[in-house]
Amino acid sequence: MNLHLQNKVAILAAATDGLGFATAQQLLAEGAKVAICGRDEQRNRVAAEHLAATYPADHILVQACDVTNRQQVDAFVQAAHTKFGQVDIVITNAGGPPAGTFETLDASAYEKGFQLNLMSAVSLIHAALPFLKQSDAASILTITSRSAKSPIPNLFISNVIRPAVIGLTKSLSQELGEYGIRVNSILPGWTKTERTVYLLQKRAEKLGVSYEACEADVIKSLPLKRMGEPTEFANVATFLVSPAASYMTGVMLLVDGGDYPGF
Ligand code: NAD
Repeated sequence: MNLHLQNKVAILAAATDGLGFATAQQLLAEGAKVAICGRDEQRNRVAAEHLAATYPADHILVQACDVTNRQQVDAFVQAAHTKFGQVDIVITNAGGPPAGTFETLDASAYEKGFQLNLMSAVSLIHAALPFLKQSDAASILTITSRSAKSPIPNLFISNVIRPAVIGLTKSLSQELGEYGIRVNSILPGWTKTERTVYLLQKRAEKLGVSYEACEADVIKSLPLKRMGEPTEFANVATFLVSPAASYMTGVMLLVDGGDYPGF
């Protein structure tokens, strides 16, 4: 299938590692140009070198940007538009909020989660919207979590904030459809990245078991009896933002190996 992504321009937030980085690589492989950002200079450099080893340098922009900093987000979007001359695809992303329960997390954790996972998406979409309106293949994807469907134990802030991002996604799909802008979300389940290592460590500490035992327990609970690979997320994300998915909008798509038990 031709995804028709040649020379389309994608902006991906927080994408020097993990799910975002895998998606950037997949988009580049399909001929798109990508702008990615991260907070850490060293990680940004490694990501830039990694991408430039395989894909044309004039298809890649890696910029320092904290997605919770509105000015830096504006500057990132402007830099992408200046380098590539257009913006067709925006993928919102950030690190996950801290693990914990209602009793272990204080009020400041909610404020941080709100800024990190909801307002970062609002800022990025705000900054990119004038450019997206000029595209004939505009698409926004929010990366959220399976926790938006049903609460995950010990991930209280995610369980509270992710549904707000789903509300943002669905509302935008209804408001922006008239401009031809599609807006969807992917709700990943357990997928092997640094985030899952952190979550398994926290869960093991809480349960008083080893990391390995905790990991085995999670895997046993999953219908496919394994965690996902970042490329498996990236394949779906790349299709969903591409013109090949031109009649899909307002969709909240689980990529969780069947973890969510509902219909
Ligand atoms: P990750 O932790 O491996 O990578 C997140 C990236 O975001 C890193 O590059 C990190 O440096 C960057 N980042 C964090 N805060 C930032 C900030 N303020 N500004 C700029 N960059 C920032 O996470 P991942 O596994 O790739 O997951 C991506 C998102 O999907 C996260 O929100 C995560 O919680 C969510 N998610 C992941 C899984 C999973 O199993 N991997 C499951 C459900 C939801």
